[in-house]
Amino acid sequence: MNLDTNNPNPLLQEWTGPYGLPPFATALPSHFLPAFEVALPAHLAEIDAIANNPASASFANTLQALDESGRLRSRIDLLFHNLTASETSPELQAVEREMAPRQAAHHNAIYMNAALFQRIDALYARRAELPLESEQLRLLERIHLDFVRAGARLAPEARQRYGAVMQEMASLCAQFGQNVLADEAGYGLELRGDADLAGLPPSVLAAAQSAATQRGLPAGSHVITLSPSLAEPFLTFSARRDLREALWRARVARGAQAGEHDNRPVAARIMVLRQEQAALHGYASYADYELVDRMAGHPGAVMDLLTQVWEPAKAQACADREALVAMARELGEPEDIAAWDWRYLAQKVRQARYSLDDAEVKPYFALDNMVNAMFDCAQRLFGIRFVEQAGHTLHHPDARLWEVRGPDDALVGLFIGDNYARATKRSGAWMSVFRSQSGGVLPIVINNNNFAKAAPTLLSFNDVRTLFHEFGHGLHGLLSTARFERLAGTRVLRDYVELPSQLFENWAEQDEVLARHARHHATGEPIESNLLTKLKAARQFDQAWETVQYVGPALIDMALHSLPNGTLVDIAEFEAEQSRLLGVPPDIGQRHHLSHFQHLFSGPGYAAGYYVYMWAEVLEADGFDAFNEAGNPFDPTTAERLLRHVYSAGNTREPAAAFRAFRGRDPQVAPMLRKRGLLPA
Ligand SMILES: [Zn+2]
Repeated sequence: MNLDTNNPNPLLQEWTGPYGLPPFATALPSHFLPAFEVALPAHLAEIDAIANNPASASFANTLQALDESGRLRSRIDLLFHNLTASETSPELQAVEREMAPRQAAHHNAIYMNAALFQRIDALYARRAELPLESEQLRLLERIHLDFVRAGARLAPEARQRYGAVMQEMASLCAQFGQNVLADEAGYGLELRGDADLAGLPPSVLAAAQSAATQRGLPAGSHVITLSPSLAEPFLTFSARRDLREALWRARVARGAQAGEHDNRPVAARIMVLRQEQAALHGYASYADYELVDRMAGHPGAVMDLLTQVWEPAKAQACADREALVAMARELGEPEDIAAWDWRYLAQKVRQARYSLDDAEVKPYFALDNMVNAMFDCAQRLFGIRFVEQAGHTLHHPDARLWEVRGPDDALVGLFIGDNYARATKRSGAWMSVFRSQSGGVLPIVINNNNFAKAAPTLLSFNDVRTLFHEFGHGLHGLLSTARFERLAGTRVLRDYVELPSQLFENWAEQDEVLARHARHHATGEPIESNLLTKLKAARQFDQAWETVQYVGPALIDMALHSLPNGTLVDIAEFEAEQSRLLGVPPDIGQRHHLSHFQHLFSGPGYAAGYYVYMWAEVLEADGFDAFNEAGNPFDPTTAERLLRHVYSAGNTREPAAAFRAFRGRDPQVAPMLRKRGLLPA
């Protein structure tokens, strides 16, 4: 790293704090722009030195050198992106808007460097003759593909246009995310008087009070925000149909209101640019271009999977609806149920049929206990320990830091948990890194959740699954043993990356894990086994609703990105039309609408890619069956194979081969269908 020790900017100096953590205490938003202005050209100088090396191209002087380049830039970039996601500010957002096109231009300058690509291409052509180890060969193939997909083979005149397309797209994606955040931060459903609180259990009331306090409202006020951790329980429990409808409509309207945060024209323009990008690469549609670099390989494979699920899930949801209508009748509510009724009525049916009250369960799922549960599972499976380190300044006082120690007690990485919702954090849950693993470099991994903060913070069982899910990604980053950064941890194909995360959710459901860790926050009593049985039975009910909510948007994503190049889209019209063609039941609706669908429009990662969760679920359900077959969720032999071929392997081998090495055969779809109740158990 070429550090400038005379520069007072803390981002450009050596990070001498404990573990090489970023200088959270001293780095200010105003430091980022000048730091990027030093780090970006420094990175390009490194690239030029590799490209113009007078020695002929070798693996070491080209691929390895490339993999090790740009570390000054990447550490600033990672810090910056973590801050804009977890603890943003108007100052950081201004830098984000300023830097988005410049970052895209920087990326282009590297991937369009003709001399550099010539060296990579020459090595690639001779790859069969080169004395390369398998991971080196994988790096060569991977980087070659990165360059081709970024336009390195385009004719000189097309390159300039390509660069302009990518820069404009980067700006629009940043804008899209900021618009959603603005609409979410700007909304609050204030509950006034006892009548507005009808049906809400204590945990929701506490979270709504805490949200009100965060917004500076007087003590005793209650606010429901659009954060899923508050909005979803409200839709589940509130007995006030009018308020449920108001909240539901506000969620749907995110990004779809005329004015400065309107995402409809932003998304339409992104689609124009994506189609142009696909055309420049010579593909018929953006989906065709995207799917080439996925395990699925082509849109047809995705459609095969999604359509196998769609109609059976709708049929099952129709059958489940009968019970909801009967419940509405019993409660004297309208029998013509609407989307804002489904969760509420389903909860009433669950309560009646399984005599289970979500509010009765929550006290057993205190956040701290569930964090201990996931650490315990990681220790039993992979032999690693988490040791909390207090007293370090992180990006927010609520974030916590752990050392991660291997079976021999050696430090293998650092883990940061940032679990609470706040207005400065984007919604959802995600894993990220401040520093990636690579040979000799220890990872610094962060998990973000958006749980409503309370004392104590109590989770729903879905929240527990989310916690375990992100921790599965976290382990993928922490356990990585790749030699090269480009192949480390979660930098795998997009429809494979959800395997370690979704797989890890299974351990949250194991009786022996819950018996040990699901203890009442006040009494310490373990959860009773009959409550556990009821919880599991109740979770089986209404799964089709979940499936329909997810598969609808996944199909609409595929349809949108499969439009032939040159098709102009009005996203609201397109979505309405698709929803009609698919027969999306209006009383179920979609989990995401296009105007706030950040997976699709906050970046390119999940465009033509919302399906990836279900693709990985096929791998996950079949993969966990290996433990079922062994008769032990912590079977050491299976766990060892899982660590070797999946959690530690990153992208060092092709994903289908990695799965086969773990499972002993190719994946089968039936376990996923069975898990979702679409095949008999
Ligand atoms: Zn995930």
